Amino acid sequence: MQELIYQRLIDNLTELKLNNIKQVLNKYLETAVKEKTSLLEALDFLMETERIEQDEKALIMRTNVAGFPFRKTFEQYDFSFQPNIDMQMINDLRTIRFVHNRENVILLGPPGVGKTHIAIAMGMDTLRYKFSTYYINCHQLVNQLNKAHFENKLESKLKRLCSYRVLIIDELGYLPLDKQGANLLFQLVSRRYEKNTTIITSNKGFAEWGEIFGDNIIASAMLDRLLHHCIVLPINGNSYRLKDRVKEVTK
Ligand code: ADP
Ligand code: MG
Repeated sequence: MQELIYQRLIDNLTELKLNNIKQVLNKYLETAVKEKTSLLEALDFLMETERIEQDEKALIMRTNVAGFPFRKTFEQYDFSFQPNIDMQMINDLRTIRFVHNRENVILLGPPGVGKTHIAIAMGMDTLRYKFSTYYINCHQLVNQLNKAHFENKLESKLKRLCSYRVLIIDELGYLPLDKQGANLLFQLVSRRYEKNTTIITSNKGFAEWGEIFGDNIIASAMLDRLLHHCIVLPINGNSYRLKDRVKEVTK
């Protein structure tokens, strides 16, 4: 009889896809009997094991889908290398409050100061809090929008890009945009305005955005929407990429 019950339990765990409970069950039953664990404690332990494992797996999947070019966290960022960075702002960003408030974040600074690193670190955190998050390089984004427009699929492309709670657009301004590209990017930003959070990194100050878009009117319309609810984090310092080379030269 006991064997039948055990077999049915295993079958039910398989059917219900509670594979993590299934994995620990045998060992756990032995200790539970020895330690006279209560039914409540046993159920709690088994459900908690399942939830933690499922959460971890889901996070790995969401992180894979997010499309980060590399994975970096705040812990891996050496803040002492950028003494000018506003730590109060960083601590505030780390609370994820900006996502709840549907605010944007713009990281500005020269190459190598860690804009992409910090944008990805924010993305890793928002994923941990289960906010759908997607990373895309600005140039690739505009290419994809152009392609979708050409193939008459712009609407569904924009819908998908608007569905992410957090969209990271990296390296805006590294390459200038043509009028069509600027228009498409503007459509995306307008649609996300006040609905979701967009994180942008750029090496160009706002005064230069007219040049990026080849059009001052589109640039200011875009900035108008982006900056309405926005945290702007300037990182003005030396390139981390060059730090070892600088050391070598000054040796
Ligand atoms: P940016 O986007 O501003 O050009 P990146 O984020 O690509 O810079 O940084 C370049 C490389 O240097 C990355 O590998 C990044 O992890 C690393 N990096 C930059 N700044 C720091 C820092 N302060 N501490 C640790 N690593 C850093
Ligand atoms: Mg970068």
